[in-house]
Amino acid sequence: MVELLIKNGFVFDPINGINGEKMDIAIKDGKIVAKVHEHRGKTIDATGLTVMPGGVDIHTHIAGGEVNTGRLVRPEDHVKDVVSKTLLTRSGVGYSIPSTFVTGYRYSKMGYTTVMNPSMAPLEAKHTHEELNDIPLLDKATFPLIGDWWFVLEYLRKGDLVGCARHVAWMLETTKGYAIKIVNPGGLESWGFGKNVHSIDDEVPNFCITPREIMRGLAKVNTMLNLPHTIHLHTNNLGLPGNYVTTLETMKCLEDLSTDGKPVGHITHLQFSSFGGDGWGNMCSAAEEITKYINAHSHLTFDMGQLIFTDTTTMTADGPFEYTLYQLSGHKWVNSDIETETSGGIIPFHYKKSNAVNATQWSIGLELALMITDPWKMFMTTDHPNGGPFFAYPKIIAWLISNKARMATLKKCHKKAQKKSLLTSIDRELSLYELAIVTRAGQAKALGLKNKGHLGVGADADVAIYNVNPETIDIARKYKTVRRAFGKAAYTIKDGKIVVKDGEVVQHADGRTMWVDVETAQQERVDEDMKLKFRQYWTVEFDNYPVSDHYVKVKDPITVKATI
Ligand SMILES: [Zn+2]
Repeated sequence: MVELLIKNGFVFDPINGINGEKMDIAIKDGKIVAKVHEHRGKTIDATGLTVMPGGVDIHTHIAGGEVNTGRLVRPEDHVKDVVSKTLLTRSGVGYSIPSTFVTGYRYSKMGYTTVMNPSMAPLEAKHTHEELNDIPLLDKATFPLIGDWWFVLEYLRKGDLVGCARHVAWMLETTKGYAIKIVNPGGLESWGFGKNVHSIDDEVPNFCITPREIMRGLAKVNTMLNLPHTIHLHTNNLGLPGNYVTTLETMKCLEDLSTDGKPVGHITHLQFSSFGGDGWGNMCSAAEEITKYINAHSHLTFDMGQLIFTDTTTMTADGPFEYTLYQLSGHKWVNSDIETETSGGIIPFHYKKSNAVNATQWSIGLELALMITDPWKMFMTTDHPNGGPFFAYPKIIAWLISNKARMATLKKCHKKAQKKSLLTSIDRELSLYELAIVTRAGQAKALGLKNKGHLGVGADADVAIYNVNPETIDIARKYKTVRRAFGKAAYTIKDGKIVVKDGEVVQHADGRTMWVDVETAQQERVDEDMKLKFRQYWTVEFDNYPVSDHYVKVKDPITVKATI
């Protein structure tokens, strides 16, 4: 029996409505409990410190095909950031694409305990799980890409939603996946022919189906399967000037699918989907149009995809978009088609304050986060590493809580971007309570993780303690103190174990891998026709396709009952 008592900290636990109350948090056997015997276990004196649930990241590319290709193509990214081993931790590299162990250490040092890998080609599921196994100190899950999956497109074209749902259940189980990921729906299949779709009503070659039908179909399937998260969506026309129109249409096309105000979709890295203008010369922010819609509706959640001024690596299954980036940057480029399943691309990218487009993107991310009034709708991410590496999160925290921090950066930006930025007219500064929502509580809720993102009895004992005393400092004015504190947690506690102290890893712990096992009335999900197609079009035998249990080091399957 392992007991731990965190005494007298300022607790921010928004799911339970606790806003900076001075209180104790008791832990027993890896779970939060009502109380423990004070003298039996260990005690942490958290007087003058901020206590929050462990951080949760809803969207970060940390494992699998595109990440590993990114590592291979960018030796220059590693050489500037070499991490030595210690008596406890392993060596590694990483700036924008850290190796597996460094990924776990760096997240944990910031007080994070749960992360979601949002993009996995089903064919590369085994490799993805091998990498996830390696990443210490974090619980994790991964989302298979199925928005351009042939079988899904065929089921939806035929209008066979039940067949589609059964198939998706099979796919989640087979890849040990957690949610349905859709990237540029229809665009990836088109990219196989060097094409793209340009609106949500463009037809996908050979399939007689449109992006609208794919998104709506999979959102309905998601509901039929009772999945904990919603569909996780990267919009069409991402990263292109004027794409806010497509984003508005995308949001509207899912509106009627929500019953009792529950979200039916998560639009990821919204910054990249909120561009105005009709070319790069007049590209501008469409945050006003986008947030006006979001503030009036509640059927979706979002994350920022905030841009950081640094050298990073872009990677996405959106092959046609990476081709556009390649044409813009002229940098080295990898295009990758994962057989019939999905496309993918990698481009190194250096975002600069002196570049008007980059500086405008930086501004858009923050405008969106500050203009969306409900913090339960919009979460903090960089779409690591696309907008910048995850270890830049403390910088974003500073921008969110402090107008002074924003203005300090804005005044160094390209003059054209400064003039257009809406930030000068926004004085909102997030409180620590709101910060706890956008960095953990809201993310856990949107993911349907019942035991995470809060500190109520029964929750996983994942806790972050930061050296910020809300009684003695004005966080907006002293944003540098807060930035430092969130970069180096005073303590990170994973499953009740102290794994980080004063920003250093002090104990090893394996994280769990979560996935969804869906129970459907009819267990038979695969027919002969599918096996035949596999023989015709896939290089992998059908029997070798599934990720078997032994691939996952610490298993945490979540069973859900479908309505079909
Ligand atoms: Zn992403």
